[in-house]
Amino acid sequence: MVTVDLIFGITAYISMEGAAWAAHKYLMHGPLWFLHSDHHTKEPGFFEKNDFFFLIFAIPSWLCIMLGMIYGVSESVAFGYGIAAYGLTYFLVHEIFIHQRFRFLRNTTNPYFKAVRLKHKLHHKNLDQHGAEHFGLLWVSRELINSQRTKKQP
Ligand SMILES: [Zn+2]
Ligand SMILES: [Zn+2]
Repeated sequence: MVTVDLIFGITAYISMEGAAWAAHKYLMHGPLWFLHSDHHTKEPGFFEKNDFFFLIFAIPSWLCIMLGMIYGVSESVAFGYGIAAYGLTYFLVHEIFIHQRFRFLRNTTNPYFKAVRLKHKLHHKNLDQHGAEHFGLLWVSRELINSQRTKKQP
């Protein structure tokens, strides 16, 4: 059923914001800090050890798609594509939009986009493993979005 598959795909996508938040907070700033630290302390070179996380997160996505195809479970395939779609969003938002590894929307005036970038920059204010805040990516509070609205001249 296509509608059920769609629900599985969307559920996976939304759950990934929570999974990515938890992985960032408890793994990347925890036992896997050795892979994430170079993302908090700018080091020369285009690639970061932190980029390994794209490979790590690709594994559950690939397993859901491959096993779903082998056993004919379309919901599992859809779930895997939902994870992959979130991974693509993470790449676009985190690597390209926020950190500008390629020029992209640098001068946006959209208050949501600006709030997403500000929130993650607040995460990076902390150069250390401990004491960081704002581990999520796409979810930002109303207040932060409102604070990014450019005030109209009276
Ligand atoms: Zn971090
Ligand atoms: Zn970052």
